[in-house]
Amino acid sequence: MRGFLCLLAAALFCAASEPKTTTLRGKLIIAAGEPASLETADHQRVTLDGDESTRKILGDQRLNGYEVEAKGHFTAPRRFLIDPIHTRAMMVRQDGRLKMITYWCNVCSIRAYTPGPCVCCQRETTLDLRDPDAQ
Ligand SMILES: [Zn+2]
Repeated sequence: MRGFLCLLAAALFCAASEPKTTTLRGKLIIAAGEPASLETADHQRVTLDGDESTRKILGDQRLNGYEVEAKGHFTAPRRFLIDPIHTRAMMVRQDGRLKMITYWCNVCSIRAYTPGPCVCCQRETTLDLRDPDAQ
C-alpha cells in the first residue's frame, strides 16, 4: 500500500510538470510565406507548430479557411504546439462533424496522412477528409 501511494505521488508530480493539454478551436489560416495560424472565435491569432508531419499539413493551402480542432499546448501566449500526428491531434470540422485529414491516391488506392506525392506512383494525392469512425 505504501509503495502504491509513493507511485501515485510520483505520477501526480509528473502530471503537474507536464504542459497542460488543451483543445484549440478556430479557423485555419494558411498563406504562402507565413507560418500557419488559427483564428479563434474571439479573433485572436495563434501561430501553430507541430512535428514534421503536422508541419506538412500546416503548409497545405487546401486547408486554408477550414474550422479545425487541435489538441496540444501553448508554448507562448500566441504560440500553440500541436500534439504528435499519430495521436490524431488535429481534426477538421465539416458539416458539423470532426473529420480526419487524410490524402488519397486514386491510382493506387493508397491513403497517406501528409500531403505530397503518392509513395507509390508519385502522383499528387488529393485531400480527403474522412470520418474517423469509417473504416
Ligand atoms: Zn499512387
